[in-house]
Amino acid sequence: MINLECLKVRYDRNSPVLTIDSLRINRHERVAIIGPSGAGKSTLLRSIKGYVRPDEGKVEVLGVNFRSAKRHEWRRVNRKIGLIYQQFHLVPRLTVLRNVLCGRLGYANPLRSLMGIFSGEDVHIALSAIREVGLEDILHQRADTLSGGEQQRVAVARMLAQQPSIILADEPVSSLDPVRAENILELITKVHAHHDTALIMSLHQPQLAKQFAQRIIGLRNGRVIFDGTCDELDNSKMEEIYRGDNIISINNTLAGSRPAEAGSA
Ligand code: ADP
Repeated sequence: MINLECLKVRYDRNSPVLTIDSLRINRHERVAIIGPSGAGKSTLLRSIKGYVRPDEGKVEVLGVNFRSAKRHEWRRVNRKIGLIYQQFHLVPRLTVLRNVLCGRLGYANPLRSLMGIFSGEDVHIALSAIREVGLEDILHQRADTLSGGEQQRVAVARMLAQQPSIILADEPVSSLDPVRAENILELITKVHAHHDTALIMSLHQPQLAKQFAQRIIGLRNGRVIFDGTCDELDNSKMEEIYRGDNIISINNTLAGSRPAEAGSA
């Protein structure tokens, strides 16, 4: 489903910010990407989404190699990759339903979607996504009147309306308090379990990664230095990933308690 080989990504002429020899992620996997700030987590997700072009190597997603793909091939794959951000990127003045319908834009006729005209099938898919996240009672409420947790649910529903084959979540809960963060991760992992998708989320809090992922990939300085199960992520591996970076938080995490900064932006 996702196959990265000999990948190097640079943002400018400097040394690569991401160097990956080989990484495969299969359908149905639930993967967390962890690592200190600047380790390359977002860049990895952006590479999978096709938002950054590799300087070298292969990014093959859903059978399409992004380096050689034609625009229409990239578009076809891109709309099957749902992305949830830390900032929800909702349109504040639009209702819940209208925001979720934005998830259908990749499928709609460009002129019709520009005019906000969606097919009955699009509306049906959007309503089903809204029901799945439990927002059917506030369908016509404007996004800017919702709580942070509700807005994140709308963002999850919009992503579901894309009918994605891959769900990417880039620090999806770092702006939420710890209880809401757990609720949203429960929701994301629940929808992942109900759909035929791979889930890859970058998480600021390693403890949440252990709680919600099956496979953890640890990045440091743009390189994969750990790739294994939650049980395999022991103290020494954590020290290696986060060496010199907020040791107190790591120790708390290993002791099973919530990191001090959990839930902060
Ligand atoms: P993380 O998500 O782990 O915090 P990022 O992928 O955002 O890491 O960043 C990896 C490195 O790439 C960092 O050194 C960061 O400063 C750099 N970087 C990220 N985005 C850009 C950009 N748009 N232009 C230049 N450098 C960038």
